[in-house]
Amino acid sequence: MVLVSVMCPSCGSANVVKFGKRPDGVQRYACRNEKCSRSVFQLDYKYHACEPGIKFRILEMAINGSGVCDISRGSAHPRRRGY
Ligand SMILES: [Zn+2]
Repeated sequence: MVLVSVMCPSCGSANVVKFGKRPDGVQRYACRNEKCSRSVFQLDYKYHACEPGIKFRILEMAINGSGVCDISRGSAHPRRRGY
């Protein structure tokens, strides 16, 4: 048996409960912290644009003058980028 500690990606709270599964079988979790802005999350996203921090990375690259192709490559998950 393996115990995996799940923490909310937004507030870091460990007060998290299982919240059903997506149709493709991925486990969803709900944060029970009342002050947290994110209520439901997954540990691993199929589409990494939903992960926390991606919006900030895209904004940072746009401000620094990166093109759309650079941003799409730069904001991809490290496994997709190949490094
Ligand atoms: Zn939270």
